[in-house]
Amino acid sequence: MKIGIVGGGASGALVAAHLVRSGLPKDAISIFDRAGLVGSGAAYGASTQNYLLNVPAGKMSAYPDEPGHFADWLVQRGLGIEGEVSAKFVARQWYGQYLRELIQGVSVISEDVSLIEFQSGQFKIGDRDFDHLVLALGNAEPTLPPQFARFQDHPGFRNSPWRNLPAEIRSEDHVLIIGTGLTMLDALCELSARGFRGQVTAVSRHGFLPQPHQPTTPVPYTGTTTLRTILKYIRKAEDWRAAIDGLRPTSQKIWKEFSLREKRQFLRHARPYWEVHRHRAPAQTYQLAQDWIRTGQLSIQLAANFDPGQSSFDWIFNATGPNQRLASRAVPVIESLVERGLASYDELSLGLDPFSLNPGLHAIGTLTLGTHWECTAVPDIRNQAAAIAAQILQARP
Ligand SMILES: Cc1cc2nc3c(=O)[nH]c(=O)nc-3n(C[C@H](O)[C@H](O)[C@H](O)COP(=O)(O)OP(=O)(O)OC[C@H]3O[C@@H](n4cnc5c(N)ncnc54)[C@H](O)[C@@H]3O)c2cc1C
Repeated sequence: MKIGIVGGGASGALVAAHLVRSGLPKDAISIFDRAGLVGSGAAYGASTQNYLLNVPAGKMSAYPDEPGHFADWLVQRGLGIEGEVSAKFVARQWYGQYLRELIQGVSVISEDVSLIEFQSGQFKIGDRDFDHLVLALGNAEPTLPPQFARFQDHPGFRNSPWRNLPAEIRSEDHVLIIGTGLTMLDALCELSARGFRGQVTAVSRHGFLPQPHQPTTPVPYTGTTTLRTILKYIRKAEDWRAAIDGLRPTSQKIWKEFSLREKRQFLRHARPYWEVHRHRAPAQTYQLAQDWIRTGQLSIQLAANFDPGQSSFDWIFNATGPNQRLASRAVPVIESLVERGLASYDELSLGLDPFSLNPGLHAIGTLTLGTHWECTAVPDIRNQAAAIAAQILQARP
């Protein structure tokens, strides 16, 4: 049996790790990645240790049934202290290294896959045939909001600072960051570690910052699955973190039960609030932003009021986050599948409908956003990876 995986980020690496752990020979698996890398992707290929995981190490194990696996790996490598490391937000690049070690020996093909064909029960990428193909395309580069299009030709413009900030930034420079989410906070951490003393202007539609993590005990949600009752439940909760975390075990089910109208309403009205409460920042990172706001080094502005006036910026970073509308991006490899009737977009056009996929074809992570919603972070992706690996192995002759 031959398995092809398109995308070598965390999702692709996690599927391979689950297959290998279940006994599939490594030489049965091929990972295609446009950068020829595995385990890095958008999140874990950072070249700096100042970009931290936004999930504690104790929740980042590759294997749901071995929750301490990543924390133990950190301790074995001398990167953490036993008993303490599970609650820590460690450098994201270590997670990339962890994933790479799990699948050492699996073949990685450096190729930007743009066409998948299906003939005689086999998926074809070039002249290679596969019985199963896993689509793990992950996060797309951010799209610059039209309001900021004029900055695109600026020599200091970078469309995404996910790997790191330019080394040439001087201590007194003026930095404009478009977006005030987790990527903006990453940039502050890096600037702070470099001893940056200049000014940062950050601008976004709502001006919200991600909320900080704090220890909490989730309160399981048992109400009805309508958008209205869920929002009311979160608003009235004594501890909103306990309420949001209490929704997590059932959030995929809740999303499935929402009507199409509710899903659209959520995306239009509630999403910005959801994102900053659900995807939290390590407390020290949040504190850094607050300190910089207090001293005036960081100014947060609303996009609607943003007027650069006489200000000139040395650097401009698009930190608006991945473009999450698959259909609007016209991704060639996806179009090739849709045109051949091997896959369809979901009803919201955010990703693929996993139930529409030709037998033998699988989708994981952000590609399943419209169907599962809660599927972009490792605690969810690893469950998807385990399920896909089990499905593939079950089909083994
Ligand atoms: C900056 C950032 C930080 C994050 N931090 C965390 C965190 O701390 N904890 C957490 O749980 N989640 C985090 N996330 C969420 C993140 O989505 C996942 O953890 C993880 O990165 C998802 O991995 P992925 O493989 O699905 O996608 P990606 O990381 O985007 O990887 C996809 C890979 O597929 C390749 N690819 C795409 N298309 C093709 C093609 N046609 N042919 C060949 N190769 C292709 C890409 O080049 C890339 O290497 C973060 C996300 C971002 C953007």
